[in-house]
Amino acid sequence: MKVLKNVFRLESFRPKQLEAICAAMDGRDVFVLFPTGSGKSLTFQIPAVLHTTGVTVVVGPLVSLIRDQVDALLKIGVDVVKLGGEQSDRERQEMSARDRLWSQDKPRLVYLTPEQLRVPPTKKLLESLYNRGQLVRFVIDEAHCITDWGRRFRDSYPELADIRKQYPKTPISALTATANAEVERDILCRLDMRDCAQFRLSFNRKNLYYEVRPKKSKKCLEEIAQDIKQQYAGQTGIVYCLSRTSCEDVAKVLREDHGISAKHYHAKMDHRDRERVQREWSEGKVLVIVATVAFGMGIDKADVRFVMHYSIPQSLAAYYQETGRAGRDGNPAQCILYYSFNDVRTRIDMIRKEDKSDDEKRWQEDDLWTVARYCMNDVRCRRQQVLAHFGEKFNPAHCNQLCDNCRDTRPITRMDHTEDAINALRLFESLLRMCKRNSGITKSQLVYALRGSKQKALVEKGFNSDALYGVLKSLPQATVDRLLDEMMVEGFLSSSQVQVGEYNQTYLKVCMLTISLRVIPTLTQSRLRWATKRL
Ligand code: ADP
Repeated sequence: MKVLKNVFRLESFRPKQLEAICAAMDGRDVFVLFPTGSGKSLTFQIPAVLHTTGVTVVVGPLVSLIRDQVDALLKIGVDVVKLGGEQSDRERQEMSARDRLWSQDKPRLVYLTPEQLRVPPTKKLLESLYNRGQLVRFVIDEAHCITDWGRRFRDSYPELADIRKQYPKTPISALTATANAEVERDILCRLDMRDCAQFRLSFNRKNLYYEVRPKKSKKCLEEIAQDIKQQYAGQTGIVYCLSRTSCEDVAKVLREDHGISAKHYHAKMDHRDRERVQREWSEGKVLVIVATVAFGMGIDKADVRFVMHYSIPQSLAAYYQETGRAGRDGNPAQCILYYSFNDVRTRIDMIRKEDKSDDEKRWQEDDLWTVARYCMNDVRCRRQQVLAHFGEKFNPAHCNQLCDNCRDTRPITRMDHTEDAINALRLFESLLRMCKRNSGITKSQLVYALRGSKQKALVEKGFNSDALYGVLKSLPQATVDRLLDEMMVEGFLSSSQVQVGEYNQTYLKVCMLTISLRVIPTLTQSRLRWATKRL
């Protein structure tokens, strides 16, 4: 309590902080899974300050985050150094960090990146500290980076698993805000953390309202503008967009057509412009920021009343982080996501064009499908879905109707569309055979064909001669459309872009290989597998 008050100048502990600190003081391995902003750092910083006979080593993935944490600690007078990265003027004037660590007058904490751990002088230093019993604890921040499940692509992070072997007597703290059950198990296993004290906080943000709305391109922007003017007049918010150009376009429409105080923000902007826009927004001079995912790190504005996603987020974890910027003050705030399947396709095309390994691309696509599934699930409590992603069980009765699905009072009807899906695949397959080489069938053509459209383009190709042409005539177009989307989300169909003349055409493909791997909630998996095998 003394250190909390006198050093950190804070009044009281937040939930589970004291327990985690006590476990660390007992020299145990500690695993901390708290949402971002809930105060994980204190769980190792207070023990580090209290351990006056040794040094606590903190490994963090990003030089910029290390710099922020070190600066904040120096400001309150905690003796801390960092290895690697740029040294500040003050640090250059004083003894180098490494010399400090070799000297008698050691700092309480040293921050470094995993790459620094591999550098021979650092290794020598740590071994010497260890041999003299002065290595108090290893702290692994953002510990999910250590696992393949974490997929954060830091090559040197997985090597951290070796510290247990190299320094078997030094306890470890692993901290993360993004771990589902698999990630957690993998972290504990890789770091060989036995008898580990584990602390978790719920990720539920009780004051946030979640809603998914269908995105009808032009109308949607109009709806956003009206909402901002009527519901959130004079209040602060964020609108997330997929691309830099859409950020600029959306901000312009909000500003010029609707008189809303809005500005764009993205990574291509000059960094001074970016800082200025962020500052204006933080100070309330600009109310709405229209941004790509580049906007987020280090935002600490308490009164954000809405976060809207004009396009689909990249993953459910990203969605949680981005919406998490709303309502930090604990007052009600709204998170509205505009969903259209076209955005999923656009995003997939973006992913496929990126200069990344095939594995990374596949993970990114999988993440995207998870969000698509979330958007299309108009039955299950949104909170329950988001929290399940973090391995947290949530009883929808506690949602307090703070999501669109819990508010929706219409009765839920379940219909088995397996037969329809099989017929759709059969018709698709036989239409493909009728197509000329180098051409294919688009999703909307398949929808029309399933509903027996008399469109000239389809009739000319002879599609209507197939016995299954019009087999889903009795279903509304929206249902057939949705069925095909669902089949794509579940991996029965996929789309690929093909250049046809000057245009990009998106054709459908059947993906039989993925079928046995997926869990199909609405379609009967075994029957579909049987049917597609016969195709
Ligand atoms: P995390 O690492 O979980 O994202 P931090 O440790 O960076 O969170 O803490 C987030 C913010 O909460 C910081 O500004 C920190 O000073 C503040 N904080 C942490 N613990 C407390 C506390 N017990 N009382 C008040 N503020 C706290």
